[in-house]
Amino acid sequence: MHKFLGYRCSLCGKEYAPDFAGYTCPEDHGNLTVRLDIEKIQAQADLESIFASNEKSLWRYEPLLPVQDPGFADTPLHTAGWTPTFRFRQLEKTLGIGALYVKDEGRNPTASFKDRASAILIARAKEIGAKTIVTASTGNAGAALAGMAAATGWHAVIFAPKSAPPAKISQLLVFGSDVILVDGNYDSAFDLSVQAADRYGWYCRNTGYNAFTVEGKKTGAYEIWEQVIAGKNVAPEQLAVFVSVGDGNIISGIHKGFKDLVELGWIDRCPRIFGIQSEKSAAVYNAWAAGTETIVPVSATTFADSISVDLPRDGVRAVRAATESGGAYLAVPDETIYEGISELGKYGVFAEPAGATAYVGMRKAVREGLIGADDHVVVVNTGSGMKDIRSAMVATGEATVIEPTLDALEKLLAKRRSAR
Ligand SMILES: *Cc1c(COP(=O)(O)O)cnc(C)c1O
Ligand SMILES: [Zn+2]
Repeated sequence: MHKFLGYRCSLCGKEYAPDFAGYTCPEDHGNLTVRLDIEKIQAQADLESIFASNEKSLWRYEPLLPVQDPGFADTPLHTAGWTPTFRFRQLEKTLGIGALYVKDEGRNPTASFKDRASAILIARAKEIGAKTIVTASTGNAGAALAGMAAATGWHAVIFAPKSAPPAKISQLLVFGSDVILVDGNYDSAFDLSVQAADRYGWYCRNTGYNAFTVEGKKTGAYEIWEQVIAGKNVAPEQLAVFVSVGDGNIISGIHKGFKDLVELGWIDRCPRIFGIQSEKSAAVYNAWAAGTETIVPVSATTFADSISVDLPRDGVRAVRAATESGGAYLAVPDETIYEGISELGKYGVFAEPAGATAYVGMRKAVREGLIGADDHVVVVNTGSGMKDIRSAMVATGEATVIEPTLDALEKLLAKRRSAR
């Protein structure tokens, strides 16, 4: 216990005690990074016992987390994380790379990467005695918090843009959270949720605001370590990880996870991390391409709603994830994201637009020579295609309808044969 030493500001470096009650640095609003007692972890944990754990969720990494496992063993809280990593041999040959893995975060209990953060936030809320948790969300963070809150008896308040995909809104409603849709975009939902948290004393889970979300998201890196680096004996310098970026919190979390492992001496370096954005929501890409950490807001219009963000709330650390790991940022056109959905689907993975974005960025990185014939690649599919079937239907086109007769079938099959 008590591996949690407090926080450090990602901008000015100032440190704060564990009982600090704010969210971002009071001096400069920088994101706070959780500080862990690495020596204590080294004394208490070892990789063999983690690898041998029977816990099939992110709670297998409790020794490396700043919170205690809150219990709720037979609930969805204990099925967040430990998602499968698939290998696509055919596709890796076609692309001409060493190996292609897709980590399918759509398998999480509410079907996105966000479950990792929300599971940790429930644990934190329990420790600090917070009864109500609020979050702003493009949809998935809210669904994840609502689902985890429902599973554990917490009260959740969710602010989301009214334009969020219906599947995500229905998740919020079904899980019984207090759902408030705003007539505005994600950024306006974010600002309102922060004001509401201040006014009513609610605990705020917001992405890129609450320091603990990264502590959940970093478990994605631990799993890539266990499943690929250790599991498939791939050297970190041979590995490149691709992830889509909106607020920049997932990529910051993955970076933090690998940095923890380097600090512990369990891997010798961080794999290269590549952040992928839509050209129509590219604030972090723009900063990276300009060689700066200064994030200039954009007016985001991408259909990939999970990464449609005007002002990324974790932009500075997101830029650093690529620069410090020797990775890069790429921006891709929205049309190619539809292609990515179809292509991944043909290999058995149904991705939501933001998930397919990482795959499309990987293809582009291969074309640009950033990934070579010996490189191994992990693409993180951050969310399930079931989250946004409207976009999937745009990608595939409508299904054919025929009269229920053999005659009609015969005609259709002939037509398809001649089209081939
Ligand atoms: C939230 C989300 C992202 C982007 O994560 P950020 O931390 O905002 O960069 C990508 N894909 C999916 C499916 C998401 O829900
Ligand atoms: Zn600061």
